[in-house]
Amino acid sequence: MLSTLPDQATLEEVHSSGAYVKRDVQIVRGTGARLRDIAGNIYIDCVGGMGSANFGHGHPAILAAIQHQAADLIVCPELFHNPVRARYQAALCRAAQMPRVFLCNSGAEAVEGALKIARLATGRPGIIATMRGFHGRTMGALSATWNRAYREPFGPLVPHITHVPFNNIEQMQAAMDDSVAAVLVEVVQGEGGIHPANDGYLQAVQTLCQNTGVLLIIDEIQTGFGRTGWLFAHHYDGVQPDLLCLAKSIAGGMPMGAVVMGERVGELPPKTHGSTFGGNPLACAAGLAVLDLLQNTHLIQQTHQRGEAVLAHLRAHLPEQTVREVRGRGLMIGIELRGKVAPILQTLQERGILALSAGRTVLRLLPPLVITDDDLWHVIDTVEEVLTHAV
Ligand SMILES: *Cc1c(COP(=O)(O)O)cnc(C)c1O
Repeated sequence: MLSTLPDQATLEEVHSSGAYVKRDVQIVRGTGARLRDIAGNIYIDCVGGMGSANFGHGHPAILAAIQHQAADLIVCPELFHNPVRARYQAALCRAAQMPRVFLCNSGAEAVEGALKIARLATGRPGIIATMRGFHGRTMGALSATWNRAYREPFGPLVPHITHVPFNNIEQMQAAMDDSVAAVLVEVVQGEGGIHPANDGYLQAVQTLCQNTGVLLIIDEIQTGFGRTGWLFAHHYDGVQPDLLCLAKSIAGGMPMGAVVMGERVGELPPKTHGSTFGGNPLACAAGLAVLDLLQNTHLIQQTHQRGEAVLAHLRAHLPEQTVREVRGRGLMIGIELRGKVAPILQTLQERGILALSAGRTVLRLLPPLVITDDDLWHVIDTVEEVLTHAV
């Protein structure tokens, strides 16, 4: 396959770590929900930067914010005050209805931060995570991640982290004791196969946490910033996390992560955590543009409506012979197949659609929320056609 690729792709295969299995396409440009490859082919993007491109590619407001801020100041460690960071922290805290935030640079870092903060705030070591959960690849986040293939080569991992079945409150309760600092959950398990929390589950988890002095950490790294038709997915569930992990689309594609901290956590003692790039004005400016976009347009409401329409359509039209179940919230869509998803992804790519998997059998669609109706329904029709032909 290598010999059919142009030179740069070969170069990348030779020099990159080897950790990624790449598709044989070289993406060079993006506009809205469309991507262009080096040969000039256009694709509809339902990978959405694996969740980091909720606002598409080259969004004018985000682009302008980045360009202006880059000209003023890119780095500024939290050794100093910075007005852009100040405005961003206030805006994010207001959006999350939580008093404080620690800014970092990725999802895994946000989870690491939350785990440290939970131990610091409670003086307890234990973390309860969930089966099928995904929280990142660094040691702490990895220890909370369920997938054995990701974890096993890297032991010994961080101790005192246990996993209980997702959506099962009895087993969560059984795992709670006075060594537990926090429960760590996603609202819709993303990498684990697009499994939304059942109605009432997160409220029951929250009650359990409140009754036992345990902190509730919600990982909204993939579900945040409008993806599910809510600013944050947990708003649908009517719960309030003590620690909220954010990243991916937080800054419109610029690398950034955040741990938003609730009343029960309070303020961190000085020098207990830190990050060189954390809170840099460039990412903060992009983050401000994202919040402005979500709060002053109908994008969230539109995502909610389009998500309901698309999920209903898929449930009604996908063939039972190839499809086990359709799950999702908003434009976070999972189609569980009876067979493997890899050949379906390949066929879709040949038909001009880039999509994701979530495990071996789930087709995952994370289109930018700004995707046009025409492109969105073209994707849905094509998926339907491809899955019907796959019978
Ligand atoms: C992607 C993801 C992470 C890890 O984020 P990185 O930025 O890749 O480290 C953690 N949790 C969830 C739910 C994710 O989807």
